[in-house]
This record gives sequence, C-alpha cells and structure tokens, in this order.
Amino acid sequence: MASESNPLRELYQEIILDHYRKPRNFGPLEGANHQAAGHNPLCGDQCKVSLKVEPDGGIEEIHFEGAGCAISTASASLMTEAVRGRSVAEARKLFQRFHDLLTHKGEPDGELGELEALAGVRDLPVRIKCATLPWHTLKAALEGHGGDVSTEKA
Ligand code: ZN
Repeated sequence: MASESNPLRELYQEIILDHYRKPRNFGPLEGANHQAAGHNPLCGDQCKVSLKVEPDGGIEEIHFEGAGCAISTASASLMTEAVRGRSVAEARKLFQRFHDLLTHKGEPDGELGELEALAGVRDLPVRIKCATLPWHTLKAALEGHGGDVSTEKA
C-alpha cells in the first residue's frame, strides 16, 4: 500500500491522541464490585480497571487508572466508552472482536466503532500488548480473579 497521507489513518491518530490527552472514565470508582490491575513490562504500562456490575450482568460503570503510553491509555479510555452500559457477555464479545482485529483475524468494518482507531497497531507487534492490556485487565476483573495480570507470563 502507498505511504502517502491517508485521511482514515489521520482520523485514527486524532482519536488516539484525544483519548490520550483527555482519558474518559479515568480515576477511582466508588462502590466498584470488580477490580483488577495489569501491567505490560515490555513498555511499562500500568492499568487498573474497576467496574460496577449489576446483578443482571449489566456494566453500570467502568473506570480505569494507571499510567502508560499513548496507545495503552487511549485503548483503556476507548474500552471504557465501548463497554459501559453493555452486558458482561457483550463486553467479552467486544474483546474477542478487538483481539481478532489486532491479530489480523478480523478487518476494520465499522462494527467496533472508535475502537478501530487502534487497528494501526496490528502492524507494530510490540504495541499490540499496549492496546490489549486494558482488555486483559478487564477480563481478569470480570472473572473475579482480582489479582494482577501481566502481558508476560511469569
Ligand atoms: Zn505501551
């Protein structure tokens, strides 16, 4: 493919920068009933995800905390926006689709909305872990492990 300026790529870049500079749903969440922390030693990204899940499985609130690179912060921010108000089952499906997108098993087709802004990292293997860290942490929080997750196996 040509390397000339690509309007879609520029839009993606803008979404990532916007979420990095003004992260949504950032900070502690009072009354959270699911929580997990994750880190990506390769980059130094730290991410803590807190959720309020209703008895019927609806995700009422989701917040994240931590410090990381632009990709991990933007990914966490976009994730909270994508998952809030959905059911736990829908959140798992979103993670699967997002993971497929980043591993070239799926193509950006609009189904994932703004999350597709991160599709560009799939050609940057080191950054894929930055983008998936918040999602792995979310999964751990929903599964109730409550422990720490790492993108690198211990
Ligand atoms: Zn990173």
